[in-house]
Amino acid sequence: MPDSTQIAAVRAYEALDSRGNPTVAAEVRLHGGAVGRALVPSGASTGRHEAVELRDGDPSRYDGQGVRRAVAAVNDVIGPALADDADAADQSALDARLCALDGTAHKSSLGANAILGVSLAAAHAAAAAFNLPLYRYLNHHYHNPGESYRHYDESNRHPGDYNRHSGASRNPQPSPSTAFTLPMPMVNIISGGRHSAGGLDMQDFLAIPIGASTFAEALQMAAAVYRAVGRILSQSGPYPYGVADEGGYGPPLPCHEDALGLLYDAARLAGYRCARNGDIAIGMDVAANEFITGDGSYALQAEGRSFTATELADLLAHWCETYPIISIEDGLGEDDWAGWEYLTKRLGASTQLIGDDLFTTNPQRLARGADAGIANAVLVKPNQIGTLTETLDTVRLAQERGYLPVISARSGETEDATIADLAVATGAGQIKIGSVTRSERLAKYNRLLQIEDELGDAAQFAGRDAFARFQL
Ligand code: PGA
Ligand code: ZN
Repeated sequence: MPDSTQIAAVRAYEALDSRGNPTVAAEVRLHGGAVGRALVPSGASTGRHEAVELRDGDPSRYDGQGVRRAVAAVNDVIGPALADDADAADQSALDARLCALDGTAHKSSLGANAILGVSLAAAHAAAAAFNLPLYRYLNHHYHNPGESYRHYDESNRHPGDYNRHSGASRNPQPSPSTAFTLPMPMVNIISGGRHSAGGLDMQDFLAIPIGASTFAEALQMAAAVYRAVGRILSQSGPYPYGVADEGGYGPPLPCHEDALGLLYDAARLAGYRCARNGDIAIGMDVAANEFITGDGSYALQAEGRSFTATELADLLAHWCETYPIISIEDGLGEDDWAGWEYLTKRLGASTQLIGDDLFTTNPQRLARGADAGIANAVLVKPNQIGTLTETLDTVRLAQERGYLPVISARSGETEDATIADLAVATGAGQIKIGSVTRSERLAKYNRLLQIEDELGDAAQFAGRDAFARFQL
């Protein structure tokens, strides 16, 4: 009789994401009857160092974007290998198996999209088998790397029997904490770059509701700013604006400072103090990698100018003096370590500097950055690295090395809300999901609202403390 969390079957099929592109949907069934399901997200401004997303390249289907090969990797390789031979409750062993089955450094053989789908679906299935909300289940794996939840569960139910089950001399781990921290959201309001047709080179202009005292209030404040931007845009005459990939506005603004000004005005129109120590602060995702040129300079079409790394860092620093910007992501390119060093020296004490394309959720790249004192925060996107265990490793490493982890969605998303639970499970303190419209974004926000409600008095909110080190 197999254990109830032994994997019985793994299946995948091709689903669609929020851009209408195919993506992997994976299902893991356990012998005890629990089922877990996950859908994999997909980026547009992807970094060169990300794990490989396997696409079919067959131009007759979805412009070559089909994922039938990744689906086949699950159904023909991963499924048969894991069925009756893997325990979903032992996430790190399972993820190590998935990496070994792939056998390449960047998961290019089976595809990170195939691997992540199974990794996440297994966690959902195991959480269901133990009758736990996913954030509680993941909290165990975050705090007890390498330990199967089954061992923990058995040792807690039969404390004297622990060693019999584990066969080792380890002691039972303390229970997972009952208080959980809901993350501060940084909410996309205006989009440019690859996510919008509006013409701005930089990707995200975000509202950070630092004055909120609960997650629900933070979301309400961000939604008020979003609505105020809509009012301003509709009053400025026949001004075409569309909804961008992450649900924000994508207006054709003449320059980047106008986007900062619009966000600032909207926050005030909504009745908030837009200031570093006020109600709403500003974040940016420059996504500088998208406008770096062959000679290493940064070409801003909207500004009609090219910048060296130093000049671009100086421009960002100038904007930080003019506007209450407390967070800048990918201010420079993914391999511009020298430029990043200058940027960090210039702004690192006062401003959160997030590495997204720079670190690609990769513990090795984050360790290199930490050794060199580059950036002070890391964007955490599970599909950049490809397994849940490696994602947890990156968050843990960030917290050990004094980097702020920001759990993040991709521009191509689905109704899958796993990252909401991940943010709560790790106490990461911040999350970046996109705007407050479109259901693939709301699936995550609504899950966080549900968790906050379910936790009641045990729900803490990161609030302005998420940025404590920058002395807001
Ligand atoms: P992406 O954008 O998912 O298209 O990479 C999100 C981001 O850059 O943070
Ligand atoms: Zn980014």
